[in-house]
Amino acid sequence: MISGKITLLEGDITQQQVDAIVNAANTSLLGGGGVDGAIHLAAGPELLVECRRLKGCKTGDAKITKGYNLPADWVIHTVGPVWHDGKYGEDEQLASCYRRCLAIAEQYEIRSIAFPAISTGVYGFPMERAAKIAVKQVMTFLFLENHSSLEAVMFVCFNRQTYDCYRSALKEILSNE
Ligand code: ADP
Repeated sequence: MISGKITLLEGDITQQQVDAIVNAANTSLLGGGGVDGAIHLAAGPELLVECRRLKGCKTGDAKITKGYNLPADWVIHTVGPVWHDGKYGEDEQLASCYRRCLAIAEQYEIRSIAFPAISTGVYGFPMERAAKIAVKQVMTFLFLENHSSLEAVMFVCFNRQTYDCYRSALKEILSNE
């Protein structure tokens, strides 16, 4: 626990007891490796059936499905940018993923949401940079804008290195306030 509504933990997002978990999907929304594969495995085959009906998702955007066999009621699927060298709008696209997920959460009156470190696996986004973007977007949404439903945001870090990056990013943003 770091700052009121924000929690940081090391673990597996598929195990989290929250209203919604976020999936770092690809544009097809038809499943992949990494966190996407883990979410589909834990949710069961009905998730893929619903995803097929969504007809894909653009980079920087997000779409919601039910959670099926997951502890979470909802999965918000977002498509992060593939990292090139930072000059192709990757930062803004990643920021957009967080904003779109949070906007959908608000729309569905979701009270708790868990995010993985979007784009930092196969898509190669540098972890430190991604953590700063994640933390900034969530803090802005929670504390600077006037939103009602969302009470808790969890960053689920798959390993210690990821956890340390998020902890530093949170410390930095809190010390600048
Ligand atoms: P992307 O294609 O967006 O990079 P990945 O799934 O390859 O997505 O990786 C995104 C992040 O999710 C990585 O930091 C990876 O370590 C992490 N991750 C993988 N599996 C899980 C899981 N079960 N729970 C939480 N985070 C996970």
